[in-house]
Amino acid sequence: MTRRTDIAALRDDFPLLTGGGNLVYLDSAATTQKPNAVLDAIRNYYVRDNANVHRAAHALADRATTAFENARRAVQAFVNAQHAHEIIWTRGTTESINLVAQSYGATTLRAGDEILISVLEHHSNIVPWQLVAAKTGATLRAIDIDDRGDLDLDDFHRQLSARTKIVAIGHVSNALGTINPIKEIVEAAHAAGAIVVVDGAQAAAHLPIDVRDLDCDFYALSGHKMFGPTGIGVLYGKEALLDAMPPWQAGGEMIETVTLEKTTFNRLPYKFEAGTPNIADAIGLGAAIEYLHGIDGAALRAYEANVVAMARARLGQMEGVRIIGNARVSTAVVSFAIDGAHPHDVGTLLDQQSVAVRAGHHCAMPLMQRLGIPGTVRASFCLYNSAADVERLVAGIDKVRQLL
Ligand code: PLP
Repeated sequence: MTRRTDIAALRDDFPLLTGGGNLVYLDSAATTQKPNAVLDAIRNYYVRDNANVHRAAHALADRATTAFENARRAVQAFVNAQHAHEIIWTRGTTESINLVAQSYGATTLRAGDEILISVLEHHSNIVPWQLVAAKTGATLRAIDIDDRGDLDLDDFHRQLSARTKIVAIGHVSNALGTINPIKEIVEAAHAAGAIVVVDGAQAAAHLPIDVRDLDCDFYALSGHKMFGPTGIGVLYGKEALLDAMPPWQAGGEMIETVTLEKTTFNRLPYKFEAGTPNIADAIGLGAAIEYLHGIDGAALRAYEANVVAMARARLGQMEGVRIIGNARVSTAVVSFAIDGAHPHDVGTLLDQQSVAVRAGHHCAMPLMQRLGIPGTVRASFCLYNSAADVERLVAGIDKVRQLL
Protein backbone atom coordinates (compact mmCIF):
# COMPACT_ATOMS: atom_id res chain seq x y z
CA MET A 1 0.00 0.00 0.00
CA THR A 2 1.35 3.44 -0.88
CA ARG A 3 0.86 5.87 1.94
CA ARG A 4 0.19 9.56 1.42
CA THR A 5 3.22 11.79 1.83
CA ASP A 6 1.72 15.14 0.78
CA ILE A 7 0.72 16.13 4.30
CA ALA A 8 -0.26 19.69 3.37
CA ALA A 9 -3.01 18.24 1.16
CA LEU A 10 -4.68 16.43 4.09
CA ARG A 11 -6.42 19.62 5.20
CA ASP A 12 -8.77 19.21 2.22
CA ASP A 13 -10.16 16.07 3.88
CA PHE A 14 -11.64 18.11 6.74
CA PRO A 15 -14.89 19.83 5.72
CA LEU A 16 -15.08 22.02 8.81
CA LEU A 17 -11.75 23.59 7.87
CA THR A 18 -12.37 23.98 4.18
CA GLY A 19 -16.03 24.95 4.17
CA GLY A 20 -15.40 28.67 3.82
CA GLY A 21 -14.41 31.21 6.43
CA ASN A 22 -10.87 31.75 7.58
CA LEU A 23 -10.73 29.76 10.80
CA VAL A 24 -7.32 28.78 12.12
CA TYR A 25 -8.00 25.83 14.40
CA LEU A 26 -5.30 25.43 17.04
CA ASP A 27 -7.25 23.45 19.62
CA SER A 28 -6.71 19.89 18.46
CA ALA A 29 -5.44 18.79 21.87
CA ALA A 30 -8.99 19.42 23.10
CA THR A 31 -10.54 17.64 20.14
CA THR A 32 -9.48 17.12 16.55
CA GLN A 33 -11.61 17.90 13.52
CA LYS A 34 -13.00 14.91 11.61
CA PRO A 35 -12.11 13.86 8.07
CA ASN A 36 -14.74 12.93 5.48
CA ALA A 37 -13.70 9.28 5.82
CA VAL A 38 -14.95 9.25 9.43
CA LEU A 39 -18.12 11.23 8.72
CA ASP A 40 -18.91 8.91 5.78
CA ALA A 41 -18.31 5.76 7.83
CA ILE A 42 -20.77 6.89 10.51
CA ARG A 43 -23.38 7.90 7.98
CA ASN A 44 -22.94 4.70 5.97
CA TYR A 45 -23.35 2.65 9.10
CA TYR A 46 -26.65 4.31 9.96
CA VAL A 47 -27.88 4.30 6.36
CA ARG A 48 -26.88 0.72 5.47
CA ASP A 49 -26.02 -1.39 8.51
CA ASN A 50 -27.74 -0.07 11.63
CA ALA A 51 -28.74 -2.89 14.01
CA ASN A 52 -27.82 -3.94 17.50
CA VAL A 53 -24.69 -6.06 17.67
CA HIS A 54 -24.06 -9.64 18.78
CA ARG A 55 -27.61 -10.64 19.65
CA ALA A 56 -30.08 -10.69 16.74
CA ALA A 57 -30.28 -13.48 14.17
CA HIS A 58 -30.58 -11.41 11.01
CA ALA A 59 -28.26 -10.22 8.25
CA LEU A 60 -28.31 -6.58 9.27
CA ALA A 61 -27.18 -7.44 12.80
CA ASP A 62 -24.44 -9.62 11.31
CA ARG A 63 -23.19 -6.71 9.22
CA ALA A 64 -23.29 -4.34 12.20
CA THR A 65 -21.45 -6.88 14.36
CA THR A 66 -18.81 -7.48 11.70
CA ALA A 67 -18.17 -3.76 11.24
CA PHE A 68 -18.08 -3.22 15.01
CA GLU A 69 -15.63 -6.07 15.63
CA ASN A 70 -13.51 -5.03 12.63
CA ALA A 71 -13.15 -1.62 14.30
CA ARG A 72 -11.91 -3.37 17.44
CA ARG A 73 -9.35 -5.22 15.34
CA ALA A 74 -8.29 -1.90 13.77
CA VAL A 75 -7.59 -0.56 17.26
CA GLN A 76 -5.75 -3.78 18.14
CA ALA A 77 -3.46 -3.26 15.15
CA PHE A 78 -3.12 0.47 15.87
CA VAL A 79 -1.73 -0.13 19.37
CA ASN A 80 -0.14 -3.49 18.45
CA ALA A 81 -2.03 -5.45 21.11
CA GLN A 82 -1.61 -9.21 21.04
CA HIS A 83 -5.35 -9.97 21.17
CA ALA A 84 -8.49 -8.15 19.98
CA HIS A 85 -10.15 -9.04 23.29
CA GLU A 86 -7.60 -6.88 25.08
CA ILE A 87 -9.35 -3.87 23.50
CA ILE A 88 -12.29 -2.65 25.59
CA TRP A 89 -14.61 0.03 24.23
CA THR A 90 -15.24 2.92 26.59
CA ARG A 91 -16.50 6.48 26.22
CA GLY A 92 -12.94 7.79 26.23
CA THR A 93 -9.73 8.10 28.20
CA THR A 94 -11.51 9.32 31.32
CA GLU A 95 -13.80 6.31 31.44
CA SER A 96 -10.90 3.96 30.65
CA ILE A 97 -8.88 5.22 33.60
CA ASN A 98 -11.91 5.09 35.88
CA LEU A 99 -12.45 1.48 34.81
CA VAL A 100 -8.92 0.54 35.85
CA ALA A 101 -9.16 2.54 39.09
CA GLN A 102 -12.52 1.08 40.10
CA SER A 103 -12.04 -2.49 38.92
CA TYR A 104 -8.32 -3.16 39.30
CA GLY A 105 -7.46 -0.47 41.87
CA ALA A 106 -10.39 -0.91 44.23
CA THR A 107 -9.90 -4.68 44.44
CA THR A 108 -6.11 -4.85 44.73
CA LEU A 109 -5.03 -1.78 46.72
CA ARG A 110 -4.64 -1.96 50.48
CA ALA A 111 -3.96 0.64 53.16
CA GLY A 112 -0.32 1.65 52.95
CA ASP A 113 -0.04 0.97 49.20
CA GLU A 114 0.94 3.84 46.95
CA ILE A 115 -0.25 5.09 43.58
CA LEU A 116 2.31 7.16 41.73
CA ILE A 117 1.22 9.79 39.21
CA SER A 118 2.99 12.99 38.11
CA VAL A 119 2.29 16.70 38.44
CA LEU A 120 1.89 16.82 34.64
CA GLU A 121 -1.32 14.80 34.68
CA HIS A 122 -4.71 15.77 33.32
CA HIS A 123 -7.44 15.69 36.00
CA SER A 124 -8.71 12.47 34.37
CA ASN A 125 -5.51 10.77 35.50
CA ILE A 126 -5.60 12.29 38.99
CA VAL A 127 -9.15 12.29 40.33
CA PRO A 128 -9.97 8.58 39.68
CA TRP A 129 -6.88 7.71 41.73
CA GLN A 130 -7.88 10.09 44.52
CA LEU A 131 -11.26 8.37 44.71
CA VAL A 132 -9.80 4.87 44.83
CA ALA A 133 -7.13 5.98 47.33
CA ALA A 134 -9.86 7.31 49.64
CA LYS A 135 -11.76 4.04 49.27
CA THR A 136 -8.82 1.72 49.94
CA GLY A 137 -6.53 3.70 52.25
CA ALA A 138 -3.82 3.85 49.60
CA THR A 139 -1.73 7.02 49.24
CA LEU A 140 -1.43 9.10 46.08
CA ARG A 141 1.99 10.52 45.32
CA ALA A 142 3.18 12.65 42.40
CA ILE A 143 6.46 12.79 40.49
CA ASP A 144 7.80 16.32 40.08
CA ILE A 145 9.01 18.00 36.88
CA ASP A 146 12.12 20.03 36.16
CA ASP A 147 12.23 23.62 34.92
CA ARG A 148 11.83 22.58 31.29
CA GLY A 149 8.64 20.66 31.97
CA ASP A 150 10.24 17.22 31.73
CA LEU A 151 9.52 14.58 34.33
CA ASP A 152 12.13 14.57 37.07
CA LEU A 153 13.23 10.97 36.67
CA ASP A 154 15.44 11.11 39.75
CA ASP A 155 12.33 12.01 41.72
CA PHE A 156 10.48 9.12 40.03
CA HIS A 157 13.15 6.62 41.05
CA ARG A 158 13.27 8.11 44.58
CA GLN A 159 9.53 7.78 45.05
CA LEU A 160 9.14 4.36 43.44
CA SER A 161 9.27 1.64 46.11
CA ALA A 162 7.86 -1.73 47.06
CA ARG A 163 4.82 0.20 48.35
CA THR A 164 4.09 1.47 44.83
CA LYS A 165 1.38 -0.72 43.29
CA ILE A 166 0.19 1.46 40.40
CA VAL A 167 2.08 4.01 38.30
CA ALA A 168 -0.38 6.08 36.25
CA ILE A 169 1.31 8.37 33.79
CA GLY A 170 0.52 10.37 30.68
CA HIS A 171 2.30 9.44 27.48
CA VAL A 172 2.13 13.11 26.41
CA SER A 173 1.24 16.15 28.53
CA ASN A 174 -1.80 18.00 27.20
CA ALA A 175 -0.62 21.31 28.70
CA LEU A 176 3.08 21.31 27.78
CA GLY A 177 3.42 18.63 25.10
CA THR A 178 6.11 16.76 27.06
CA ILE A 179 6.59 13.17 25.85
CA ASN A 180 7.33 10.97 28.83
CA PRO A 181 9.83 8.06 28.65
CA ILE A 182 7.19 5.39 29.12
CA LYS A 183 9.44 2.40 28.42
CA GLU A 184 11.92 3.45 31.09
CA ILE A 185 9.08 4.09 33.55
CA VAL A 186 7.47 0.72 32.84
CA GLU A 187 10.74 -1.14 33.25
CA ALA A 188 11.48 0.45 36.64
CA ALA A 189 7.86 0.13 37.82
CA HIS A 190 7.74 -3.57 36.93
CA ALA A 191 11.03 -4.16 38.72
CA ALA A 192 9.45 -2.57 41.80
CA GLY A 193 6.35 -4.77 41.44
CA ALA A 194 3.95 -2.07 40.20
CA ILE A 195 1.72 -2.08 37.16
CA VAL A 196 1.63 0.88 34.76
CA VAL A 197 -1.43 2.66 33.38
CA VAL A 198 -0.67 4.99 30.47
CA ASP A 199 -2.94 7.92 29.62
CA GLY A 200 -2.48 8.04 25.87
CA ALA A 201 -5.08 10.70 25.11
CA GLN A 202 -2.55 13.13 23.64
CA ALA A 203 -0.30 10.58 21.99
CA ALA A 204 -2.63 8.87 19.57
CA ALA A 205 -2.81 11.63 16.94
CA HIS A 206 0.95 12.16 16.93
CA LEU A 207 3.01 9.13 17.91
CA PRO A 208 3.14 5.47 16.94
CA ILE A 209 1.81 3.42 19.85
CA ASP A 210 3.09 -0.06 20.56
CA VAL A 211 1.77 -1.42 23.84
CA ARG A 212 3.85 -4.59 23.54
CA ASP A 213 7.05 -2.65 23.02
CA LEU A 214 6.17 -0.29 25.89
CA ASP A 215 5.12 -3.36 27.92
CA CYS A 216 2.58 -1.15 29.74
CA ASP A 217 -0.25 -2.94 31.53
CA PHE A 218 -3.05 -0.58 30.51
CA TYR A 219 -3.27 2.11 27.83
CA ALA A 220 -6.17 4.57 27.51
CA LEU A 221 -7.27 6.46 24.37
CA SER A 222 -9.99 8.88 23.24
CA GLY A 223 -11.35 8.59 19.70
CA HIS A 224 -12.15 12.29 19.40
CA LYS A 225 -8.51 13.30 19.91
CA MET A 226 -7.37 11.15 16.98
CA PHE A 227 -9.78 12.28 14.24
CA GLY A 228 -12.55 9.94 15.39
CA PRO A 229 -15.92 10.74 16.96
CA THR A 230 -16.66 11.85 20.50
CA GLY A 231 -18.16 9.34 22.92
CA ILE A 232 -15.87 6.47 22.00
CA GLY A 233 -12.54 5.46 23.46
CA VAL A 234 -10.46 2.48 24.31
CA LEU A 235 -8.90 0.73 27.22
CA TYR A 236 -6.14 -1.68 26.27
CA GLY A 237 -5.24 -4.07 29.06
CA LYS A 238 -3.07 -7.15 29.26
CA GLU A 239 -5.23 -10.24 29.02
CA ALA A 240 -4.15 -11.75 32.34
CA LEU A 241 -4.93 -8.57 34.25
CA LEU A 242 -8.30 -7.99 32.54
CA ASP A 243 -9.24 -11.64 33.09
CA ALA A 244 -8.63 -11.36 36.82
CA MET A 245 -10.51 -8.07 37.22
CA PRO A 246 -14.17 -7.92 38.22
CA PRO A 247 -16.68 -6.13 35.97
CA TRP A 248 -17.33 -2.53 36.95
CA GLN A 249 -20.67 -1.84 35.27
CA ALA A 250 -23.40 -4.46 35.03
CA GLY A 251 -26.18 -5.41 32.63
CA GLY A 252 -26.66 -6.36 28.99
CA GLU A 253 -23.70 -7.61 27.02
CA MET A 254 -21.44 -8.32 30.00
CA ILE A 255 -23.36 -11.36 31.23
CA GLU A 256 -23.07 -15.04 30.34
CA THR A 257 -26.02 -16.37 32.36
CA VAL A 258 -28.33 -14.71 34.83
CA THR A 259 -30.65 -16.24 37.39
CA LEU A 260 -32.36 -14.15 40.01
CA GLU A 261 -29.78 -15.39 42.48
CA LYS A 262 -26.58 -15.19 40.50
CA THR A 263 -24.85 -14.00 37.34
CA THR A 264 -21.88 -15.41 35.50
CA PHE A 265 -19.94 -13.00 33.36
CA ASN A 266 -19.15 -12.98 29.68
CA ARG A 267 -15.61 -13.47 28.41
CA LEU A 268 -13.28 -10.63 27.46
CA PRO A 269 -13.79 -8.02 26.15
CA TYR A 270 -17.57 -8.14 26.73
CA LYS A 271 -17.22 -8.51 30.49
CA PHE A 272 -16.40 -4.80 30.55
CA GLU A 273 -18.94 -3.66 27.95
CA ALA A 274 -22.29 -3.48 29.72
CA GLY A 275 -25.28 -2.38 27.65
CA THR A 276 -25.57 -1.57 23.96
CA PRO A 277 -22.18 -0.19 22.93
CA ASN A 278 -21.55 2.96 20.92
CA ILE A 279 -21.54 0.99 17.67
CA ALA A 280 -21.55 3.86 15.18
CA ASP A 281 -18.73 5.73 16.84
CA ALA A 282 -16.61 2.61 17.27
CA ILE A 283 -16.95 2.16 13.51
CA GLY A 284 -16.11 5.86 13.10
CA LEU A 285 -12.97 5.36 15.19
CA GLY A 286 -12.05 2.37 13.03
CA ALA A 287 -12.35 4.67 10.00
CA ALA A 288 -10.12 7.27 11.70
CA ILE A 289 -7.47 4.60 12.23
CA GLU A 290 -7.75 3.52 8.61
CA TYR A 291 -7.40 7.19 7.60
CA LEU A 292 -4.23 7.54 9.70
CA HIS A 293 -2.95 4.25 8.32
CA GLY A 294 -3.15 5.73 4.84
CA ILE A 295 -0.67 8.47 5.76
CA ASP A 296 3.08 8.02 5.78
CA GLY A 297 3.98 8.22 9.49
CA ALA A 298 7.49 9.57 9.01
CA ALA A 299 6.29 12.27 6.61
CA LEU A 300 3.49 13.20 9.00
CA ARG A 301 5.78 13.51 12.00
CA ALA A 302 8.38 15.51 10.04
CA TYR A 303 5.70 17.89 8.75
CA GLU A 304 4.15 18.40 12.18
CA ALA A 305 7.53 18.83 13.87
CA ASN A 306 8.40 21.49 11.33
CA VAL A 307 5.19 23.47 11.89
CA VAL A 308 5.55 23.25 15.68
CA ALA A 309 9.25 24.20 15.57
CA MET A 310 8.27 27.22 13.49
CA ALA A 311 5.60 28.19 16.04
CA ARG A 312 8.05 27.83 18.93
CA ALA A 313 10.70 29.86 17.10
CA ARG A 314 8.32 32.64 16.02
CA LEU A 315 6.65 32.98 19.43
CA GLY A 316 10.00 32.69 21.18
CA GLN A 317 11.19 35.82 19.35
CA MET A 318 8.17 37.91 20.29
CA GLU A 319 8.69 40.48 23.00
CA GLY A 320 6.50 39.92 26.02
CA VAL A 321 5.64 36.35 25.00
CA ARG A 322 6.89 33.57 27.23
CA ILE A 323 6.70 29.95 26.08
CA ILE A 324 5.78 27.65 28.96
CA GLY A 325 7.37 24.23 28.76
CA ASN A 326 10.44 23.41 26.79
CA ALA A 327 10.66 19.64 27.17
CA ARG A 328 13.51 17.74 25.54
CA VAL A 329 11.03 15.76 23.50
CA SER A 330 7.56 17.10 22.93
CA THR A 331 4.64 16.96 20.52
CA ALA A 332 2.44 19.54 18.94
CA VAL A 333 1.52 21.71 21.93
CA VAL A 334 2.84 25.25 22.38
CA SER A 335 1.75 26.81 25.67
CA PHE A 336 2.54 30.46 26.29
CA ALA A 337 1.79 33.55 28.33
CA ILE A 338 1.77 37.20 27.34
CA ASP A 339 3.17 39.62 29.92
CA GLY A 340 0.44 41.51 31.73
CA ALA A 341 -2.40 39.64 29.99
CA HIS A 342 -4.72 37.02 31.43
CA PRO A 343 -4.81 33.86 29.27
CA HIS A 344 -8.60 34.10 28.91
CA ASP A 345 -8.37 37.65 27.54
CA VAL A 346 -5.74 36.50 25.06
CA GLY A 347 -7.94 33.59 23.99
CA THR A 348 -10.94 35.86 23.48
CA LEU A 349 -8.99 38.41 21.45
CA LEU A 350 -7.46 35.69 19.28
CA ASP A 351 -10.92 34.23 18.73
CA GLN A 352 -12.06 37.63 17.45
CA GLN A 353 -9.41 37.15 14.76
CA SER A 354 -10.68 33.63 14.00
CA VAL A 355 -7.73 31.95 15.69
CA ALA A 356 -9.08 29.24 17.99
CA VAL A 357 -6.79 28.41 20.90
CA ARG A 358 -7.48 27.20 24.42
CA ALA A 359 -6.83 29.30 27.50
CA GLY A 360 -6.82 28.32 31.15
CA HIS A 361 -5.58 25.46 33.27
CA HIS A 362 -6.24 22.76 30.64
CA CYS A 363 -7.66 20.40 33.29
CA ALA A 364 -4.19 20.29 34.84
CA MET A 365 -4.62 22.52 37.89
CA PRO A 366 -1.87 20.83 39.94
CA LEU A 367 0.55 21.51 37.07
CA MET A 368 -0.45 25.18 36.98
CA GLN A 369 0.06 25.34 40.75
CA ARG A 370 3.48 23.74 40.32
CA LEU A 371 4.35 26.30 37.63
CA GLY A 372 2.97 29.14 39.77
CA ILE A 373 0.66 30.45 37.05
CA PRO A 374 -3.14 30.63 36.72
CA GLY A 375 -3.06 29.09 33.26
CA THR A 376 -1.59 29.33 29.79
CA VAL A 377 -2.70 30.04 26.28
CA ARG A 378 -2.33 26.79 24.38
CA ALA A 379 -1.94 26.46 20.64
CA SER A 380 -2.13 22.80 19.71
CA PHE A 381 -1.32 21.64 16.22
CA CYS A 382 -1.91 18.56 14.13
CA LEU A 383 -1.73 17.27 10.61
CA TYR A 384 -4.07 19.88 9.08
CA ASN A 385 -2.16 22.91 10.39
CA SER A 386 0.40 24.77 8.31
CA ALA A 387 3.04 27.49 8.36
CA ALA A 388 0.27 29.90 7.32
CA ASP A 389 -1.59 29.05 10.54
CA VAL A 390 1.54 29.90 12.53
CA GLU A 391 1.72 33.27 10.79
CA ARG A 392 -1.94 33.96 11.59
CA LEU A 393 -1.26 33.10 15.24
CA VAL A 394 1.74 35.43 15.32
CA ALA A 395 -0.24 38.26 13.70
CA GLY A 396 -3.05 37.62 16.17
CA ILE A 397 -0.71 37.82 19.15
CA ASP A 398 0.78 41.04 17.77
CA LYS A 399 -2.66 42.56 17.69
CA VAL A 400 -3.45 41.30 21.20
CA ARG A 401 -0.30 42.99 22.48
CA GLN A 402 -1.36 46.27 20.87
CA LEU A 403 -4.85 46.02 22.37
CA LEU A 404 -3.84 45.08 25.91
N1 PLP B 1 -5.80 12.82 29.50
C1 PLP B 1 -5.27 13.80 28.77
C2 PLP B 1 -3.78 13.96 28.73
C3 PLP B 1 -6.10 14.66 28.07
O1 PLP B 1 -5.57 15.64 27.34
C4 PLP B 1 -7.50 14.47 28.13
C5 PLP B 1 -8.40 15.41 27.44
O2 PLP B 1 -8.08 16.56 27.22
C6 PLP B 1 -8.00 13.42 28.88
C7 PLP B 1 -7.12 12.60 29.55
C8 PLP B 1 -9.45 13.15 28.97
O3 PLP B 1 -9.92 12.73 27.74
P1 PLP B 1 -11.49 12.50 27.51
O4 PLP B 1 -12.14 13.78 27.93
O5 PLP B 1 -11.61 12.24 26.06
O6 PLP B 1 -11.90 11.36 28.36
